[in-house]
Amino acid sequence: MAIPEPQVAATIRSDEAGDKRWDVVVIGAGPAGAMAARQLALEDARVLLVDRASFPRSKVCGCCVNGAAIGVLAQVGLGDLLQRCHARKVEAFQLASSGRFATVPLSEGVSLSRERLDTALIQAAIEAGAEFLDRALALIGERTSDACEILLKTESGERSASAMAVVVAGGLGCRVFAESESDDRKASPSSRVGAGTILDSAPAEYTAGTIYMACHPQGYVGLVRLEDNRLDVAAALNANAIKESGGVAELVGRILTDSKLPIPELLDGAEWHGTGRLTQRREHVVSERCFFIGDAAGYVEPFTGEGIAWALASGRVVAPIVLDFVRNDPNSNAMHAWTSTHQKLIANRARLCRCVSRLLRYPTLVNIAVRLLALAPLLARPVVRSLNASFEAKMPNKETATKHR
Ligand SMILES: Cc1cc2nc3c(=O)[nH]c(=O)nc-3n(C[C@H](O)[C@H](O)[C@H](O)COP(=O)(O)OP(=O)(O)OC[C@H]3O[C@@H](n4cnc5c(N)ncnc54)[C@H](O)[C@@H]3O)c2cc1C
Repeated sequence: MAIPEPQVAATIRSDEAGDKRWDVVVIGAGPAGAMAARQLALEDARVLLVDRASFPRSKVCGCCVNGAAIGVLAQVGLGDLLQRCHARKVEAFQLASSGRFATVPLSEGVSLSRERLDTALIQAAIEAGAEFLDRALALIGERTSDACEILLKTESGERSASAMAVVVAGGLGCRVFAESESDDRKASPSSRVGAGTILDSAPAEYTAGTIYMACHPQGYVGLVRLEDNRLDVAAALNANAIKESGGVAELVGRILTDSKLPIPELLDGAEWHGTGRLTQRREHVVSERCFFIGDAAGYVEPFTGEGIAWALASGRVVAPIVLDFVRNDPNSNAMHAWTSTHQKLIANRARLCRCVSRLLRYPTLVNIAVRLLALAPLLARPVVRSLNASFEAKMPNKETATKHR
């Protein structure tokens, strides 16, 4: 059965968006922004969700949605979204390093292209009442005691909208301030950079339902079949090694060869997308009327495949805090509340993710881990369980959670 093409159109023109005074403008319509916009709209907030891209758009991503992310979707009443998008169940994770292999069983998780996932989430935000504006770069301008100015730059010109609060969900390395000095992001200088592509065909050895991960001193490459059988390839690579190898495709090819995984024929001619440094941290996840969520609030390398879960959870949990700020008292505790909630929600997970990323820098340790897991795959169970664990215990307001909102 053919899977329908994903599509979503703007619900508002930029001149109309500029004329309105919004409760909240959400910058970035990835999983974090779409989820935040939906949750805010469900509470009758006047919400504008803006993205500089038109959807479906490509995004460097391993496209694996873990149990924690599936849990967030179920908790907000979107439990059927992945199935509607024809997401594919993943049942195993195969680690490959220097010709050794270990396969770990997975009990939860699916693979789904970002074209379909992100488009479906935006559609859900629109259905909840959010307005959506695509192909508009949003930049935060002047912030006063009662509003925030947002410049909307489109092909047809520039408009200025105003909002009580801004949710920044622009992803890794996004630029959202008209004045760049407002930015307080720090990228780890030793961090790897990301690269990805999707191949229309690939060797049959890459079977559906398994995540293949090739580990190498110069980075790692993840491969998974998507809902339509295309092969998603996503990598975290040492920037110097890309230069030395002569390009991303060459380095990815070398990592697969050294790991003894098959090389897809289309790898060379593929269109690769890249990212900046992957491990980034923002000094403050709030700043005068602005709340940062998802990758825009900070990110760690993608080996453990958790970014979508962090994005969805933060989009969900920020909504009541922003509403409190907009409705009750702009001088309230909301800014402080988001700092501490974000810390509780993400900090432990980020720590585990950082530990795994560090371990991957030591080839001897990786080889020992692969040998051990080949003998006893269930040794990975505690890590897998903690990656899939629900965010529910960290939710500040359990009542809101059970309302399916
Ligand atoms: C190599 C790699 C592999 C990965 N693999 C996985 C995986 O398998 N599983 C997983 O869970 N996570 C994975 N991730 C992480 C995941 O992709 C991210 O964590 C997730 O996309 C974050 O969602 P987000 O909504 O915060 O940002 P994004 O998805 O990046 O969305 C941000 C949006 O903001 C828009 N935007 C930016 N600036 C502006 C602006 N000024 N105005 C208007 N729009 C703007 C962009 O166009 C974009 O659409 C991977 C990441 C990488 C790099």
